[in-house]
Amino acid sequence: MTGEGPIIVAIDGPAGSGKSSVARAVAKELGYGFLDTGAAYRALTWLLLQQGALADRANLAADALAVLKNWQLELPLAADGEIRLNGQNIAAQIRDPKTTETIKHVSAIAAVRDELNRWFRKYVSVSGLPGVVIEGRDITTVVMPDAKVRIILTASPEVRAARRQKQLPQMTFAQVLEDLRVRDEADLKVVNFIDPAPGVKLIDTSELDFAGSVAAVVEYAQERAGKLG
Ligand code: C5P
Repeated sequence: MTGEGPIIVAIDGPAGSGKSSVARAVAKELGYGFLDTGAAYRALTWLLLQQGALADRANLAADALAVLKNWQLELPLAADGEIRLNGQNIAAQIRDPKTTETIKHVSAIAAVRDELNRWFRKYVSVSGLPGVVIEGRDITTVVMPDAKVRIILTASPEVRAARRQKQLPQMTFAQVLEDLRVRDEADLKVVNFIDPAPGVKLIDTSELDFAGSVAAVVEYAQERAGKLG
């Protein structure tokens, strides 16, 4: 460590790429913390839905920024902690389909992204951890462009849909595939998480199982951190 804060492993990628579970396992193996930035977008959207701010979206930007002013979000940096908003465990609520499909309206607001990004950087810098694995869509490019390790984790749409369907057995494969396509299309209007920026490593996990995906990321992270550290 240089004394300037934790070593950062930044991981971006599309929905269903296995980012979250792989990033979590990588953090555990490296002894680092883990930050799921998507969970913050989800928590914010869930709360705005509760408040009715997404009904006509007339004041959505102002409403979202007002929420962020008094934001009491606890995102666990330890792999097995609980996500809490204003003291309430909201782990299940933020993954419901209504929240998931509504996030795009919130995540497209530039001022909201700026505010959340500031929050992420602060949250990580005061964590006191030796390292943090951060995953999302714009971590390698916007949130932590100077991270020691930057990776885009991807897989083919079919592989991603098959993995996601295991978590959503009530939906058909075709529905899951279509939902992923729609979500990627909306998200890609905001930030490019498909083509790696210069210096960002692309890891395609289409042909890898979970353990293989974790090993590929750990190996690259150790190589990079060792080289630069
Ligand atoms: O990663 P996850 O699928 O949980 O993210 C949920 C949504 O949050 C994404 O579809 C995207 O709209 C938004 N998001 C984002 N930027 C990030 C992380 C998530 O816009 N860094």
